[in-house]
Amino acid sequence: MRFHILTLFPDMVEQGLHTSIIGRAVEKGLLAIEAVNIRDYTVDKHKKVDDYPYGGGAGMVMQAEPVYQCYEAVKKKIETKALLSNPGTRKNPRVIYLSPQGKTFNQTMAEEFAQEEDLVFLCGHYEGIDERVLNEVITDYVSIGDYVLTGGELPAMIMIDAISRLVPGVLHNDVSAEFESFQDNLLEYPQYTRPQTYLGMSVPEVLTSGNHQNIDKWRKEQSLAITKANRPDLLEE
Ligand code: SAM
Repeated sequence: MRFHILTLFPDMVEQGLHTSIIGRAVEKGLLAIEAVNIRDYTVDKHKKVDDYPYGGGAGMVMQAEPVYQCYEAVKKKIETKALLSNPGTRKNPRVIYLSPQGKTFNQTMAEEFAQEEDLVFLCGHYEGIDERVLNEVITDYVSIGDYVLTGGELPAMIMIDAISRLVPGVLHNDVSAEFESFQDNLLEYPQYTRPQTYLGMSVPEVLTSGNHQNIDKWRKEQSLAITKANRPDLLEE
């Protein structure tokens, strides 16, 4: 799977995503992560990419043209790759604008995005991006929660992390992505590891019993109890 991130701060994204599990998946060729600098696509001699908002108001707005040219360059690259590996195919990639005004990201969306071969993320900054280019290129508006951040880079990294874990081979053990919080609208049961007793607290006996039927039953009960206590809204769904 290939991620293309259009951003004014490519270093932030590159550094954040080339470590640990995601970094290893990139090394193995299971994922490709490319951060593209929108500033490289401005024709302004001072490399300016923003301007004052029409109608007045605080802050600056990212201009449409550098964003559009950056998107076009990435789209062309994706098309060329697709044509080389599968001649006759032509499909526009999904382009996600990270925005507090978007649909709130969740595990179901991560599963759906994980089916794509290429995903393009557009990160805003300052007061956001000129609406006209968004109307032209964006297929999905996604928020990571009801709060406002300074830029779309962290939200893009969060989404890429959650989506990447669902790509076959990225996690050591594919099963570990299957039984986790939000599967069947349930939160995960508590986990324990060695030592068996810590600060006077012992691991629940059932987990050391070796009886897998009882372990499954205990885990299901715990999942239900935790979901009821912490996220009753999930059970209502
Ligand atoms: N003026 C915009 C508004 O009120 O909707 C907020 C702009 S915000 C300061 C700058 C950029 O950060 C946005 O363009 C977006 O890309 C990103 N951003 C901020 N909060 C976000 C969130 N909760 N989810 C996803 N992206 C977010």
